[in-house]
Amino acid sequence: MSSNLQRSGILCVVSGPSGSGKTTLCRAFTAADENAFYATSATTRSPREGEKDGDDYFFLTRDDFEKRATRGEFLEYAEVHGNLYGTLKSEVIEHIRAGRDVLMDIDVQGADLVRGVNDTIIQNALIDIFILPPNDEELANRLDSRGTETREQLDLRLHNAHEEMSHWQEYGYTIVSGSREQDLAAFEAVLTAERHRSSRYRASDFEIKNSSQAELDL
Ligand code: 5GP
Repeated sequence: MSSNLQRSGILCVVSGPSGSGKTTLCRAFTAADENAFYATSATTRSPREGEKDGDDYFFLTRDDFEKRATRGEFLEYAEVHGNLYGTLKSEVIEHIRAGRDVLMDIDVQGADLVRGVNDTIIQNALIDIFILPPNDEELANRLDSRGTETREQLDLRLHNAHEEMSHWQEYGYTIVSGSREQDLAAFEAVLTAERHRSSRYRASDFEIKNSSQAELDL
């Protein structure tokens, strides 16, 4: 058999509470892997210091977000910590079709919506990973050390973190966060194994043509 196979892309949903380190992890993985893309989300929340439109998020007004939602431009969207967040279809579909892997850093509501998308390409591509902080104390420390939220926002995120964490068993994979290096190694291990699933491979046109020609030659 020829090894001229083409692999379909993976849609990797990554969730975990604010402060679990999931965004850093996804960014580190996609920066080092040319076949993996980070799906930049749209949000109605204001940019934090240093955040760039189109890079960290597409920052939209609520009105613009809602119009795009009505036009069906989102694969999923949800209200998180009082703001709207959503993944645009344009950030996902073409990459997967082209055999590239897409990482979506989204909340548990969004993950549930993606699991419910009635589309074979999405369902065959989908895997999900939950990033759990090692303990409550470390979670609070990580949130505090970002220094980007007010006390009120921090309290809301801590409260929401516990609700979010109660969903970890709905995910196929769980990574209990340790050091950045440990988290990245665990993440790479999952993606490496998933990339080797036989069901993701199909014979390319080239192989089909060659093997049928070979049979005729016999
Ligand atoms: P942050 O405001 O800290 O950047 O993100 C807050 C939360 O929104 C995070 O838990 C993150 O996973 C979630 N989030 C970011 N983008 C999306 C998205 O496109 N869809 C959904 N459902 N959640 C998102």
